[in-house]
Amino acid sequence: MNEKSIRDRLVEHGQTLFRAPKQPVSFTKEPQADALLNDLDNHPHAFVLACVMDRQVKAERAWLIPYRISEKIGGFSVQKLSELSQQEVNRLMREPEPLHRFVDTMAHNFHSAVQRIKNDYGGDAALIWKGEPSSAEVVYRFLEFDGVGPKIGSMATNTLARDFKIPFSDYYSIDISADVHVRRVFSRLGLCAADVTVEQVIYKARSLYPEFPGMMDLPCWEIGRNWCKSRGPVCRDCYMNDVCPTAR
Ligand code: SF4
Repeated sequence: MNEKSIRDRLVEHGQTLFRAPKQPVSFTKEPQADALLNDLDNHPHAFVLACVMDRQVKAERAWLIPYRISEKIGGFSVQKLSELSQQEVNRLMREPEPLHRFVDTMAHNFHSAVQRIKNDYGGDAALIWKGEPSSAEVVYRFLEFDGVGPKIGSMATNTLARDFKIPFSDYYSIDISADVHVRRVFSRLGLCAADVTVEQVIYKARSLYPEFPGMMDLPCWEIGRNWCKSRGPVCRDCYMNDVCPTAR
């Protein structure tokens, strides 16, 4: 079976997810925290600040930080957040227990992100994605936040497009997020070698589907989590089994 069949199957499933009706996204498994993160109309900065926090800890923990801070300060308006000093953010993130593994760095990133949202976007973080900008423009705007790299920039833009149904003028710059599941699935599908690097997966996805490389992100992640497990794939249940060279 050739690469094109595999690519077509992954893209087809990605398009199904992309076109599915909008539903609340489960970021943290805590309903109130998820409600805040899904409230792009009134609290778009909560989503942005969670993206900024999403480094070097489990995603669920990072995405809880905006809600934990809102509990401590009694609200989550940009006005309220922008009145916090760097020291106050540091204390909120450190006490009574650390909200992140790297409190000092992330407190700086949180504080500077709030100031950027206030100063560059007039307090409305939704201006990062409003008006059908290109995907490159949106990724670039995320990259301007301290601590955000290409991985988070692409993940954030992909989430906005796929889950929040935010329209962009193109999707070329939304890369695949090559986490451990995606790398394992790419190599078992024969798209890359067994010891594939993050960069190799990113460029392979770009070569397979340049119009929207990140379209294959969630399908691969779901395959990896549900069937293509590290300790042994459950190929009989996987919808790739008729095109996968590793299928048992
Ligand atoms: S068919 Fe098996 S090896 Fe191939 S992607 Fe699915 S679970 Fe993995």
